[in-house]
Amino acid sequence: MATFSPDLSKPAVFLFRRDLRLKDNKALALASMHKKLHLVYVLDPHREHQGGASSWWLHHALKALVKDLKKNGQCLSILVGETAKKVKEFCEENQVSQLYAARGYSPIERDQDAQLITLGADSKAGALQTHFELGNYLFEPEYACKTDGSPYLVFTPFWRNLCKKGFAPLHALDVALPKQKGESPNIDTLGLLPTIGWDKQFYECWSPTESSALAALEQFVQINASAYKDQRDIPSSPGTSRMSPYLAFGQVSPRQIWIACTEAFGPLSKIEKKYPGVYTYLKEIAWREFANHLLFFFPRTSKEELRVSFQKFPWKKQNQKGMQAKLKAWKAGNTGVPIVDAGMRQLWQTGWMHNRVRMVVASFLVKNLGLDWRYGAAWFMDTLVDADIASNSMGWQWAAGSGADAAPYFRVFNPTLQGERFDKQGSYVKTYVPELSDVPLKLLHKPWELPPMELAAAGGYPGPIVSLSDSRKQALARYQQFKDS
Ligand SMILES: Cc1cc2nc3c(=O)[nH]c(=O)nc-3n(C[C@H](O)[C@H](O)[C@H](O)COP(=O)(O)OP(=O)(O)OC[C@H]3O[C@@H](n4cnc5c(N)ncnc54)[C@H](O)[C@@H]3O)c2cc1C
Repeated sequence: MATFSPDLSKPAVFLFRRDLRLKDNKALALASMHKKLHLVYVLDPHREHQGGASSWWLHHALKALVKDLKKNGQCLSILVGETAKKVKEFCEENQVSQLYAARGYSPIERDQDAQLITLGADSKAGALQTHFELGNYLFEPEYACKTDGSPYLVFTPFWRNLCKKGFAPLHALDVALPKQKGESPNIDTLGLLPTIGWDKQFYECWSPTESSALAALEQFVQINASAYKDQRDIPSSPGTSRMSPYLAFGQVSPRQIWIACTEAFGPLSKIEKKYPGVYTYLKEIAWREFANHLLFFFPRTSKEELRVSFQKFPWKKQNQKGMQAKLKAWKAGNTGVPIVDAGMRQLWQTGWMHNRVRMVVASFLVKNLGLDWRYGAAWFMDTLVDADIASNSMGWQWAAGSGADAAPYFRVFNPTLQGERFDKQGSYVKTYVPELSDVPLKLLHKPWELPPMELAAAGGYPGPIVSLSDSRKQALARYQQFKDS
């Protein structure tokens, strides 16, 4: 194993990526041992998370980071352009030969890592030594492989293997940065804020700072974690942690989440026996690791079906007759199916959607409308504040039946039954589809059964863009035909 012995008297660069935090950041902790340290962020036009909602989050996360750094007597250099090229230029200008960063796992980040190594090798300032440390995950994707080195395709054995091998972090890392002169640039000039009025409405829902992430985590662990198993499927309940955007931008680390739970409830073995809610929650954190494991070993799955047999599936395209209008209605939350519309409107209004409803709207798009899952995945990447290429690809391919550990294609969610089961009092639908506020509960999830006069009173709420039962039958027939061919 190579020993780590950089010359600490020489200046170093720490490159912030999707780890916009000062606490529990391994690469930053190592970099901070240098006497002189430059902190750098590169706004790369090829980044995966460049959707409108992610850009909104990034804008505020960078602002918060700059503020936190200023309090500690440091500043952030922001470079705009291709990551490797910009970092190389910066290192040459500042005579730096040591670079620290979190390792990247997505296809784009892995290319960046490779380029940083190649470009750095012939830097004018002398070969640039790169130190990549465990990124925004609990463990490296290779760690969780089977004994023969191959990746897992099913979550349960992946999880069992992890529990057997052991991986749980024991403590968070301290970071003490050296002081540094200089001013950070004005984040407003980066043009990250969307111009469509999201700023105000998102700001009412989120506080994208590292300290807010930790406060929200503490509150979740104290109040909601033990009831997570019972509450996590109820979209109107604050039963889930809403850690996803903080995790996506690394303002909280999964290690900090794990440690917060084990400090409050004990080791995993005790949690499994005594706190089923917390155990289920920690397994969800491991689902995120599973998504990273899959994307790492199958990088094509952000664009292509994981199951090769599905690559010829006849997904409908938006240029087919009537499909553009259907896709538009889905995006706008005007499908006439209340739980689907509530989810899509929650997404537009808050930049986030409850997991149960993500599954319902995804199933509706790929099965009832028969549309290509990539349209849905692209829309989510654009509108989710937690947009994450690994979890999003896995989630969409799960719904499409084409991914690892996926719902079988013939499992078509019935949105009416999903609504009646998980939004029993209708409060979720009524929050986001206020036109239906006066509809009696027994018809709230199927307003098309209302008498015409009452339906007319529902403020122009549309009729369903497809018949749920016919479209279900058509989806199953499409699948059967595909299998037979
Ligand atoms: C079609 C579809 C698309 C999705 N796209 C994304 C995405 O772009 N980004 C994203 O972070 N999640 C995505 N998910 C997974 C999941 O919906 C969100 O992680 C979750 O809703 C976030 O809310 P939370 O933080 O309150 O979750 P909690 O229930 O509190 O869970 C805690 C954490 O565990 C992880 N987690 C939970 N469920 C999953 C899951 N099914 N897959 C992977 N990790 C999970 C997340 O990091 C989450 O923050 C998607 C799911 C589906 C079905």
